[in-house]
Amino acid sequence: MNKQITDTLNRVHNALMPKTADLTFLLSLKTKEEQQILFRFADQVRQKHCGKGILLRGIIEFSNRCANPCPYCGLSFHNHSLSRYQLSKNEILDTVDRLHHQKIRTVILQSGEDPQMDPDWLADVIRSIRARFEMAITLSVGEKSLETYRCWKKAGADRYLLKIETASRSIYDSLHPGMNFSKRILCLKNLTKLGYQVGCGNMIGLIGQTTATIARDIQFFKKMDFDMIAIGPFIPHSKTPHGQEKPGDPELVLRTLALTRIVTKNSHLPSTTALASFGNDLKNQGFLAGANVLMLNFTPPSVLKDYDIYPGRKYTYLDENDSSSSLHAWADSLNRIIDYSIGNSLKSATTQTVNQQYI
Ligand code: SAM
Repeated sequence: MNKQITDTLNRVHNALMPKTADLTFLLSLKTKEEQQILFRFADQVRQKHCGKGILLRGIIEFSNRCANPCPYCGLSFHNHSLSRYQLSKNEILDTVDRLHHQKIRTVILQSGEDPQMDPDWLADVIRSIRARFEMAITLSVGEKSLETYRCWKKAGADRYLLKIETASRSIYDSLHPGMNFSKRILCLKNLTKLGYQVGCGNMIGLIGQTTATIARDIQFFKKMDFDMIAIGPFIPHSKTPHGQEKPGDPELVLRTLALTRIVTKNSHLPSTTALASFGNDLKNQGFLAGANVLMLNFTPPSVLKDYDIYPGRKYTYLDENDSSSSLHAWADSLNRIIDYSIGNSLKSATTQTVNQQYI
């Protein structure tokens, strides 16, 4: 069996496009020993293509207003019990100041999908960050028009995170009433065309998902050659239509993460907050199975509980009182180092054009 696993791993690693059967075989590994072969392989690929560093990103969840109906997400407009907020420009700038002071050189501005949000307001926030701080700005505010994406790029945004959630058109469409898969793909292509470093990702544990559809997600990540990919478990939220479903299997998340590392080689892969919500041990295992990015949460405490995507979110913080030495000791325990660089994409401009061909 071990030889079969190693042979399959080598085939997947070397293939221009890995075969579905090889990926499903590896996604189905069950015993600890078998999984360790996969995780160690992914760890070596991470070491070769990304090095020892753990890159830091500071996330500010600046608004939980959302007009989308995603039946798995606590921010969806169905959740009437949620009190909605939007931070002011000054509150965002003060928070960016705080994370910049902590030597973090990427800020992620994330929100629900709010059609009322004025694109010029966000452009102004982006310009103000650009003027005051030397750092990368990542946006994660959902599907917008080409013009809006262009406006924010011109204002100074560098990166954009828009998860496909699943690369299966039928599962995507059934999970997103009133939205559509082709539009999501178009947004991802537009972002690439405009020169953003583009992040994508999926959730593990969605209704209808199988190892074959997860294999398709990994093939999609390979084909689109994303700069960053976030893979996390679905976690049921009681105030949503999917509140009674089973959570995603964290070990399957780890296997998907490891395979995504092996297949995409140098995409930035976080060990996600959703995975960490299953325990610090899972977060650490993510870093031993291919991850190279840590997300630190800087959403102001006054609104943090209202960014209620799913219950039990396990944030990683770094506040003024939390000496960064504990972060270094943690990295050291994983035989890694904290990397304070800006952490731009490791993809070359030429490979990024490949995804123009998709669909
Ligand atoms: N509005 C932006 C968008 O659509 O890209 C960003 C905000 S959205 C809340 C951020 C991510 O939360 C989604 O891409 C999804 O993967 C994740 N998410 C939503 N509900 C979740 C759940 N119940 N369990 C785990 N992750 C969830």
